Amino acid sequence: MGEVKYSVVIPAYNEEEVIEESYRRLKKVMDSTGEPYELIFVNDGSKDATAEKLRNLVAVDGNVKMLGFSRNFGHQTAITAGMDHASGEAILIIDADLQDPPEVMLDMIEKWKAGYHVVYGKRLKRKGETFFKLFTAKVFYRLLNALTEVPIPVDTGDFRLIDRKVCDTLKSMPERNRYVRGLVSWVGFKQTAVEYVREERFAGETKYPLKKMLKLAFDGLSAFSYKPLRLSSILGFVVLLLTAFYFLFIIIRNILVDPNLSPLYTVAGFSFLLNGTILLMIGILGEYISRISDESKGRPLYIIEEKEGFGPAAEGERHR
Ligand code: UDP
Ligand code: MG
Repeated sequence: MGEVKYSVVIPAYNEEEVIEESYRRLKKVMDSTGEPYELIFVNDGSKDATAEKLRNLVAVDGNVKMLGFSRNFGHQTAITAGMDHASGEAILIIDADLQDPPEVMLDMIEKWKAGYHVVYGKRLKRKGETFFKLFTAKVFYRLLNALTEVPIPVDTGDFRLIDRKVCDTLKSMPERNRYVRGLVSWVGFKQTAVEYVREERFAGETKYPLKKMLKLAFDGLSAFSYKPLRLSSILGFVVLLLTAFYFLFIIIRNILVDPNLSPLYTVAGFSFLLNGTILLMIGILGEYISRISDESKGRPLYIIEEKEGFGPAAEGERHR
């Protein structure tokens, strides 16, 4: 440690169209710091030519390193692996698609030098993204904030700089369903923001389909709030109360008003309501339980199939 000042972690999944341009921009920015750095690309099980292109970069540039997963483990896991293998005093995390302008990293470094331990990028504007994505992201970050005890800054992604101290703390946290930006908020230290405009993707399309977005959203929610669990008990309680009133109503009505009127329709309606509520509760429980079972399995977080450019120590590690 100490040799490298900055580690840039770049998760990449099927990014053959952008990876070289991304490398060029990153190199330019990091060269301009005049300090030693490493670019750690984490190939998250890409099915395209991403791995080959990365191997070529490692071959020509001693600052480039590559971790290759044995399959697609997901964005947050890729970031985690990158941080685990970073040796810099400051670690920068940036997307491969150039939506986060690499030049902003210089502002982050400046703030770090001024004494901050976490400098996160706050998106002022997001270009070239669908209305649906913008809307769901806006709602989600605000909802999450309303539900959690640790404030997680709104409109920030994983584009950020973290100090070695923060990185080591995160490495000591064993949880598996990782919502990295939440974890970073949770650990504390001195944090600040750098504002930037999120650009359009340089090429290709998003690697975050709705399914992955939902997984990320619930990882964030379940890791930082138990309120959804409580919500289900409150809902259950309210429904029970309503049902009690309903029975009272039926009894009084049958005695006093009209003993012959069939309450079947209402009964059916309430039965739907009740069943729906129960299903919802079970669903929420299931989300938590699946994560508990995930944690208890104790499997490794990721599997590295390939390691390039990490030097002799890393070579040895591969054969362990
Ligand atoms: N990514 C990854 N694994 C995945 C999905 C995405 O490593 O399973 C990477 C991707 O290559 C990119 C970053 O995570 O560098 C953010 O993904 P993307 O740009 O597709 O998400 P969006 O910006 O559309 O939210
Ligand atoms: Mg993107």
